[in-house]
Amino acid sequence: MLKNFYDVVIVGGGPAGCKTAELASSLGLSVLLIEEHEEIGKPVQCSGINSHRIISLSGLKEREIVVNKVYKARIFGDNETFLELKSPKPVYVIDRQKLDEGIAKLAIKRGCEIQTGVKFENFKRRGNFLLVHTSSSTIKTKILVGADGPNSTVAKLAKIEMPKEYVIGYQQTIRGDFSDNIVELWFGKTITPDFFGWVIPENDEWARVGIASKINVGYYFENFVRKRFGKNGEKKDIVAGIIRYGLIKTSVSDNILLVGDAASHIKAYSGGGIIYGLIASHIAAKACFNAVKSKRYDRKFLEKEYDFKWRMVLERPIKRGLLLHKLLHSMPNNTFSALLKLGKPLRFFLNKMDMDLLFTR
Ligand SMILES: Cc1cc2nc3c(=O)[nH]c(=O)nc-3n(C[C@H](O)[C@H](O)[C@H](O)COP(=O)(O)OP(=O)(O)OC[C@H]3O[C@@H](n4cnc5c(N)ncnc54)[C@H](O)[C@@H]3O)c2cc1C
Repeated sequence: MLKNFYDVVIVGGGPAGCKTAELASSLGLSVLLIEEHEEIGKPVQCSGINSHRIISLSGLKEREIVVNKVYKARIFGDNETFLELKSPKPVYVIDRQKLDEGIAKLAIKRGCEIQTGVKFENFKRRGNFLLVHTSSSTIKTKILVGADGPNSTVAKLAKIEMPKEYVIGYQQTIRGDFSDNIVELWFGKTITPDFFGWVIPENDEWARVGIASKINVGYYFENFVRKRFGKNGEKKDIVAGIIRYGLIKTSVSDNILLVGDAASHIKAYSGGGIIYGLIASHIAAKACFNAVKSKRYDRKFLEKEYDFKWRMVLERPIKRGLLLHKLLHSMPNNTFSALLKLGKPLRFFLNKMDMDLLFTR
């Protein structure tokens, strides 16, 4: 039975929404999470590749979410020259549905209520609080968290401007003959003008093969598959979605904060958003707690407690990621291939790079 007044209402049952819900609940707040789909974690819109940080940040065990561990990456240029990198730590290929479900279960354990199959529609101000209208009811809340992804309705209704740049990602799981220890990243204008193609092995028989681009993603995908595999193999599990990237100007408004893709907590150079979203969720939950404790839900307070604090951790990596993305995709094909041929010095530099935060270790 739903209450009619919550400390926090969260829109979106992806990793950022579920983690914020779990942590805010564990701090003693009353939390309701609403998700428009019938099941948390479905449909999957992700390739599921993450650094070792996914385990500590998600709070889940390796055996609960990890499908494969990879230690090598091959970076290809247009002319199939490649550079091979080795990671001292495993890079995880995860089951994305299990990640979302697993964090949602932790949230429920902490006392969070979750409503699935319910869509957030609108909100209205009522004094110091908000009335949240969903497809099934109206609920009063002190704070509304928009964890509703790259096309956030909460952001739009709160008049928070989201970054405009985006690419569309498209992936299929393809049967083939793979090394289960090597991820492939394919760059070059004929592969895709504004992103890269990827081959992420689940094992030595199946790999998640995808591409992203601003337009014509289907065309680039078919071309890429033909180039990489020669012929059309057996396929399953189509995944598609938007990757919006950029540095958001503000992630808060009165009674409202955005987290995860809704706040463009995304690595522009790779399209990865789970790690940044989970980092920001920890900060968001604490900010909600401080707001409720101080009875301050105004924009200024949320700016200080949330927007400022996540920027301390993520603003520089986001900016470095945007720069790297720009560099990679403004480079002519032959310059990129020449760079790959540098081999050892480039490998030395890249092997020292932290894949999430883009600083050298
Ligand atoms: C093709 C592709 C591959 C990717 N691969 C990777 C990868 O390998 N590694 C990585 O780290 N990241 C990857 N990403 C990015 C990653 O998927 C996102 O960064 C991540 O899902 C963001 O999590 P989130 O919780 O912020 O939002 P989401 O996971 O998008 O969750 C938002 C939720 O809000 C719900 N929702 C939206 N509107 C409403 C509403 N009005 N009412 C109720 N519910 C609503 C949605 O149904 C959804 O469940 C990929 C993205 C794409 C498109």
